[in-house]
Amino acid sequence: MAVGVLALQGSFNEHIACLRKLGVDAVEIRKPEQLAELSGLIIPGGESTTMAKLAEKNNLFPALRKFGSSGKPIWGTCAGLIFLAAKAVGVKEGGQELLGGLDCTVHRNFFGSQINSFEMELSVPSLASDGGAQTCRAVFIRAPAIIDVGSSVEVLAECPLAPKQAVDLPEQDRSKDKVIVAVKQNNMLATAFHPELTSDLRWHQYFLKMVSDGDKEAQAPKTEAVLA
Ligand code: GLN
Repeated sequence: MAVGVLALQGSFNEHIACLRKLGVDAVEIRKPEQLAELSGLIIPGGESTTMAKLAEKNNLFPALRKFGSSGKPIWGTCAGLIFLAAKAVGVKEGGQELLGGLDCTVHRNFFGSQINSFEMELSVPSLASDGGAQTCRAVFIRAPAIIDVGSSVEVLAECPLAPKQAVDLPEQDRSKDKVIVAVKQNNMLATAFHPELTSDLRWHQYFLKMVSDGDKEAQAPKTEAVLA
């Protein structure tokens, strides 16, 4: 099974290295036709406006949308999360094109600029397997946050707000004491932080499980065929 990493800009090398450590055939993706061979795709962190412009230039949006609606797993980290969101606030004037598909609203620079970057231990019950650790070290760099989710979105992790981290909060969010930073909805996984910058490979393993489950489903005979 081949897993692609959108390699236009940002931390794609780090994702490729994590996938290779796990023995996966990891492919750098720059052209629409490369998507056809993949079982899953990672959209890395970086700068979402620049990434959107490069995706537009390389005519990637139609193929990326087709990939997402085919049900194959996509994981967006940080700028990748912004890319996947149905709606983004705090974007530059004129907006930026989003891939969409993930039923949530993202605030693009919720935690502030580069100097407001931080690391923290997050509670993520879904990462604990066989009684292992329930927490992970999360690296937030000019990080976005998810400020609203649809009812079919599963919240995987929340970050307790500290006033100095959450600058420029939208009016309605000032009373919140935590904010969503990791979600899953059907074939989409999204994290506001950067698991590829730590040595903990559990987020990649979590995504690869989504990919292999998707492959098994695609290979299973369809009910109609069985009944025919
Ligand atoms: N907030 C950044 C953006 O808009 C994303 C930062 C990141 O990916 N580390 O693109």
